[in-house]
Amino acid sequence: SGNFARRTTAEWQALDAAHHIHPFSDMGSLNKSGSRVITKAEGVYLWDSEGNKIIDGMAGLWCVNVGYGRKELAEVAYKQMLELPYYNTFFKTTHPPVIELSNLLAEVSPKGFEHFFYCNSGSEGNDTVLRIVHQYWAAVGKPAKKYVISRKNGYHGSTIAGGSLGGMGYMHEQMPSQVGNIVHINQPYWFGEGEDLTPEEFGLKRAQELEAKILELGAENVAAFIGEPFQGAGGVIFPPSTYWPEIQRICRKYDILLCADEVIGGFGRTGEWFAHQHFGFEPDTITMAKGLTSGYVPMGAVGINRKVADALIAAGDFNHGLTYSGHPVAAAVAVANIKILREGGLIDNVKNVTGPYFQKSLREALDGNPLVGEIAGQGLVAGMQLTEDKATRKRFANGGDIGLQCRDHCFGNNLIMRATGDRMLLSPPLVITKSEIDELVSKAKYCLDLTA
Ligand code: PLP
Repeated sequence: SGNFARRTTAEWQALDAAHHIHPFSDMGSLNKSGSRVITKAEGVYLWDSEGNKIIDGMAGLWCVNVGYGRKELAEVAYKQMLELPYYNTFFKTTHPPVIELSNLLAEVSPKGFEHFFYCNSGSEGNDTVLRIVHQYWAAVGKPAKKYVISRKNGYHGSTIAGGSLGGMGYMHEQMPSQVGNIVHINQPYWFGEGEDLTPEEFGLKRAQELEAKILELGAENVAAFIGEPFQGAGGVIFPPSTYWPEIQRICRKYDILLCADEVIGGFGRTGEWFAHQHFGFEPDTITMAKGLTSGYVPMGAVGINRKVADALIAAGDFNHGLTYSGHPVAAAVAVANIKILREGGLIDNVKNVTGPYFQKSLREALDGNPLVGEIAGQGLVAGMQLTEDKATRKRFANGGDIGLQCRDHCFGNNLIMRATGDRMLLSPPLVITKSEIDELVSKAKYCLDLTA
């Protein structure tokens, strides 16, 4: 009964393989085995074209925060398409959806964040952050501040600038030239790289690499530091508690902008509106996407604090914009989505009820599994490190293989759990109930037990 006539799974797979280049995929292997065809979804569940019911432990790509099948979002999009499907916000025009969204974002964002720029994705959000940062330093008379420091194994998207900010080797190797003036320091990943230090000592040590890098480049040349409060695509890596306060101290000391990439962490994932609030630091810019619209339509945004906004506004022309900046349908859906998050008490529920329950259940269930060396997480996000020997934190020689084995078991058992190298990740929709958490955790345990 959908928009498209039903074909057999084999027909869909053949047409898909014939004409569709998939993101981040080995097309050769997809051509051989065919992709799984997802046809509908409700709540925390997906269905495939063979009628299998799958529990979505990843909320799509960490984005369907309010769960699937929200009629109120569909109705808002439908009404907005009839009323004003498109108009731009260039050249002194605006429209009610983008006005309402900006007001609402100012209400739910941390104190001091009152200005928002719109785009279509997290990658474009981080491209925008780069432009804002450079415009800011030019506006305050320090145009030499050009270097941006980010981290190895960070992920900031797949545009040229997003990929350059990120620290994933495979994204750098593919490009002959990356965006200049971006340098990377090490990640705060204690379990994998913590040597003989305590997590607290290690957190400080890795944060102090920022200071060393600033001194090497000259503080007068450094514009900003950007990081995800916890690394998502890098494996749900939670930094030790000492890390972010030290990063903030260093940024303030050397007059460097602190940019939080909240594309995954934003809109409730950790039980706070934004993950940096969990870690207790105060950024100058916030990149948003994913949970902003719960993935129902594409949208990204960048929030800037008063200090940055004042300079940007005083500077005059901001030469950046996208045809779909502040798209009315996306903005209308974002408003309705944020109201669901706020008025339903969903984020408080993640903080006080479902988040703690999920974290505790996962740890209890996997305690006896010899593979699982570390479980990191907060609220409704978790990363599990697979290890050859837990006690010595020994990693598998060819780590990615074990992750893929586990993911294959999940696939066969109708569970979406993501593998990134030798870490398994979970990030379910925020609407997940306790009994659905029981199902998610028991399936995850079963698949990890099969892998062990
Ligand atoms: N930043 C972070 C932290 C992300 O996790 C992602 C995507 O996963 C992005 C940026 C890029 O967002 P998009 O895929 O919407 O461009």
